[in-house]
Amino acid sequence: MSGSIRLSERYGVNPSLMVCPACGEGSGVALLGRLKGEDREAPRRILDRVPCSECVGAFEAARRDHPGDVLVFVCHPSVGEEPPRGTFPLLAGWCIVKAEAWQRIAPKFDGCGRVYLSWDAAVKVGLADQFAAAARGGA
Ligand SMILES: [Zn+2]
Repeated sequence: MSGSIRLSERYGVNPSLMVCPACGEGSGVALLGRLKGEDREAPRRILDRVPCSECVGAFEAARRDHPGDVLVFVCHPSVGEEPPRGTFPLLAGWCIVKAEAWQRIAPKFDGCGRVYLSWDAAVKVGLADQFAAAARGGA
């Protein structure tokens, strides 16, 4: 992102609340200025490209407290089958799954300790129920 913005004639700096893709909490403010094309208002909320520091800390603590187990990120239904590259996908939730249990779900799992599951895949393996409330919402 560059250090300068082109002001919108109608909306000025045209701010938008950045939200954490993992927890949905505000993580900063983006000043979008004049958007490409017509001079329109910025969306009220946009997804940050990375999780907030609290979420990153929670992921790290979970990995530390459950060594060898699998950190599973369950993508929000709006994400579809393939999470966007280069950004952290919007999550419905995340959890730790015991390594032995994950081996039964995904026998070919390479053991990197972290996986992203599409919502449909999470439904198939029985991990979606606990995130159903979050899946109905969204950023
Ligand atoms: Zn967060």
